[in-house]
Amino acid sequence: MNDISSILKIINEKKKIIITAHVNPDGDAIGSELALARYLKSIKKNVRIINFSPTAQFLQFLTPKNDELELYDSDLHQQAIAEANLIIILDLNQLSRTGSMEDPIRLSSAIKVCIDHHEFPENFADIELIDTSKSSTGELIYDLLVEANYKLDYSIALPLYVAILTDTGSFKYDRTTPKVHRIVADLLETGIDTKTVSREVYDQGTANRIQLLGRALSSLTLTCEGKVSYMIVRKSDLFETGTNEEDVEGFVNYNLTIRGVEVGLFFFELEDGLKVSFRSVEKVPVNLLAKKFNGGGHFHAAGARISGNDFELLIQNVLNETEKYFA
Ligand code: 5GP
Ligand code: MN
Repeated sequence: MNDISSILKIINEKKKIIITAHVNPDGDAIGSELALARYLKSIKKNVRIINFSPTAQFLQFLTPKNDELELYDSDLHQQAIAEANLIIILDLNQLSRTGSMEDPIRLSSAIKVCIDHHEFPENFADIELIDTSKSSTGELIYDLLVEANYKLDYSIALPLYVAILTDTGSFKYDRTTPKVHRIVADLLETGIDTKTVSREVYDQGTANRIQLLGRALSSLTLTCEGKVSYMIVRKSDLFETGTNEEDVEGFVNYNLTIRGVEVGLFFFELEDGLKVSFRSVEKVPVNLLAKKFNGGGHFHAAGARISGNDFELLIQNVLNETEKYFA
């Protein structure tokens, strides 16, 4: 039995299902959750999506009634997690990526299924569908729906389209295979309006966000003879521009628009340390770099949250590790 058929078999046997994804869920996480949950509801399962973080504004159009995604509250949800029969964990493969939901999930007697496309899995799940050749978790959910002989409709195709759109950088990145385009063609057949979706996802930011981008771009610094580019956003920048963490989505990519840059870094100050986004154009495996700081991700896109109180020193540590690739 392959992974997908074991997952469909366990879905068939279980009734009370919880779906979750990683902290600060991106388009792939939210899109995959909504598509899977809507499918499970259509086959009469009792399903809840519970996330550690709120849903970013640019994804809220996917659930206009705002009644499908629950924000984790230990008083409210700990028991539900304990009593679930099946927990499906999407777009991550290290359970610490679920924030403080980690322990309740580990302690639950529910069967755990992990569906993901990142490297270096922790292997916490009873059943895994992990395929690093896939563009997105959304692509894996699509494969699962095909195997289940489910006839796609718009309500499921739309979140899957957003999952694939965002995780491929609008069909630019590695793993945007011919098959991805065939899947997308299939999704579009249900009536998706690509222009409207693009505006919802990419063009509904605030003027404040552009002010913040201006500050981030002004901080841009090149090192390693122009092969490494980095930008910094501090807490005070958010405060002074009236923005928040979700507004920095995508900023890291500006580093890579510079000729000769091979690695782009984005440093974001947190209450107790920093979040680093790593991007690589070609040869540097940034997931290995992120792993040195207990993070992870893909070969060309990775991230880490590093705790500590000396922001400058934490940045310097990351730059030192990065520079080793260019020594
Ligand atoms: P981003 O920099 O856009 O937040 O994340 C880029 C990639 O790295 C994503 O695939 C994401 O899943 C992964 N990633 C980001 N932050 C972390 C982290 O703290 N830990 C791990 N394991 N992966 C991360
Ligand atoms: Mn993903």
